[in-house]
Amino acid sequence: MNLKKIDWKELRQQKSLLVSMAAKLRDEDSERVKSARKNEEEVDALDGLINFIDSIQDDAVDKSGLAEKTVFGEVENENCLAGMRCPECGGLGPFEIETATTVTMADTGSLATHDIEFGAFAHISCPRCGHEGKVWQFVR
Ligand SMILES: [Zn+2]
Repeated sequence: MNLKKIDWKELRQQKSLLVSMAAKLRDEDSERVKSARKNEEEVDALDGLINFIDSIQDDAVDKSGLAEKTVFGEVENENCLAGMRCPECGGLGPFEIETATTVTMADTGSLATHDIEFGAFAHISCPRCGHEGKVWQFVR
């Protein structure tokens, strides 16, 4: 197989569609519990194809030397670390972040942890390269 002839952008889009189809089937499957054995087979088939695409992408980067960006596209954090990236090495985390946490504390110990928050001036470090700074410096 000539990996250079693959349309990586198209393959990425097709893979992303397969991932959401698998997730959708998985959700439907858990709702209907055991009646939907067929869904399980379909999910397995989709997972198999997704894994196959994963390994083609990994080989393209690791063995054929194609740029990660060409194969996987520009990857961004979209959830808890939305828009964040290490300014030193470009890593997407995970990062070590100093946080303030609210707990419900009883005399015998903590009972529950509530939301974990961190502000722009919280201390942050990147385990990958050791770079340290404030959260705002890691926001692009
Ligand atoms: Zn880093």
